[in-house]
Amino acid sequence: MKDEPMDKEDILKKLSEIHKLDYDYADGRILGSMCTQAHPFAKEVYCKFLDTNLGDPGLFKGTKYLEDEVVRSIGNLLSLDEAYGNIVTGGTEANIMAVRAARNHARKYKGIVDGEIIIPSSAHFSFKKAADMLNLKIVEVDLDENYKMDVESVKESVSDKTVAIVAIEISKIAHENNIYFHVDAAFGGFSIPFLRDAGYDLPVFDFSLEGVCSITVDPHKMGLAPIPAGGIIFRKKEYLQVMAVDSPYLTVKTQSTIVGTRIGAASAATYAIINYFGKKGYSQLAQELMDNTYYLKDGLQEIGYEIVCEPELNLLAFNHPNIKPRDFAEKLGKLGWNVSVAKCPIEAIRVVLMNHIKKRHIKELLEDLKEIY
Ligand SMILES: *Cc1c(COP(=O)(O)O)cnc(C)c1O
Repeated sequence: MKDEPMDKEDILKKLSEIHKLDYDYADGRILGSMCTQAHPFAKEVYCKFLDTNLGDPGLFKGTKYLEDEVVRSIGNLLSLDEAYGNIVTGGTEANIMAVRAARNHARKYKGIVDGEIIIPSSAHFSFKKAADMLNLKIVEVDLDENYKMDVESVKESVSDKTVAIVAIEISKIAHENNIYFHVDAAFGGFSIPFLRDAGYDLPVFDFSLEGVCSITVDPHKMGLAPIPAGGIIFRKKEYLQVMAVDSPYLTVKTQSTIVGTRIGAASAATYAIINYFGKKGYSQLAQELMDNTYYLKDGLQEIGYEIVCEPELNLLAFNHPNIKPRDFAEKLGKLGWNVSVAKCPIEAIRVVLMNHIKKRHIKELLEDLKEIY
């Protein structure tokens, strides 16, 4: 910080120069991200609620109402009439809350002290953070030949220390009675329900399955809400209650979230965008992105690239016949394409066909890939 104040103009000039170092979604070169440009209307609403603090909901009753409404709407989408939960910073925080609820619940009602969580080997790394922070042991379950969580292995991994079983949105569901069951649908939560309604063959992962206790869904991915917006939806209020700590000085007596002062703008922006889009809007978006996914897949196969598995969502993993995935990613990077390398189920280039990637970008990508092949 300098001694003397700077002019706004000078600061803005400097900021825009620095901002140029960032990739811009609009260029269609960000191919590996599950995030995308938020919808302009959601951004507009977000700015109006920047000063709201859901850590002290008695002061922000309106914004708290919006958070509850968003949780209720997402719950409804996932076949739950009465939902509990919060809009948090993202899938990571949502998953940590779910694991914390499971651990505390098992501690209170089953007396489990050295708990374990069962996760598929393809689970997001946020569960490693959760286990580390909550002092739980991770029991990893292998995937079957279709790259799905192996149901038998889950059953074999259950012990008297299991506090939770975690599944990802597109897995076969392996629920064991009386064990907390969490589904991580951070990515697919805002597309699978719509694709299913449109006739796509995708598994049911939601609260219509009796054993499901909580689901993570991120509005800041397929929901087109601004970052940070993650959702954690619980079936019962008691899962929030087992995490409650006393919160003196505040307008409410207890708090169950991880963070204290917390964003209200995300709830307001998500409220705006889900109402603006409606089911029809999201259904159309999800289907367009699936069309783009098949378009890229067909193009890749025409050239001769090898697809790792048939895409179920707007994600595509593929490999070059002779170049190792990391070298291949570097090569693409030099051509301006920002791709990521997925490790699971096998090492491969992973493209996430988000809304900022248009057909013309895919065409350009395919031209470059043809050159490299
Ligand atoms: C993105 C994602 C996460 C992590 O969410 P963040 O918003 O990055 O914290 C967790 N699980 C799954 C399945 C995801 O797709």
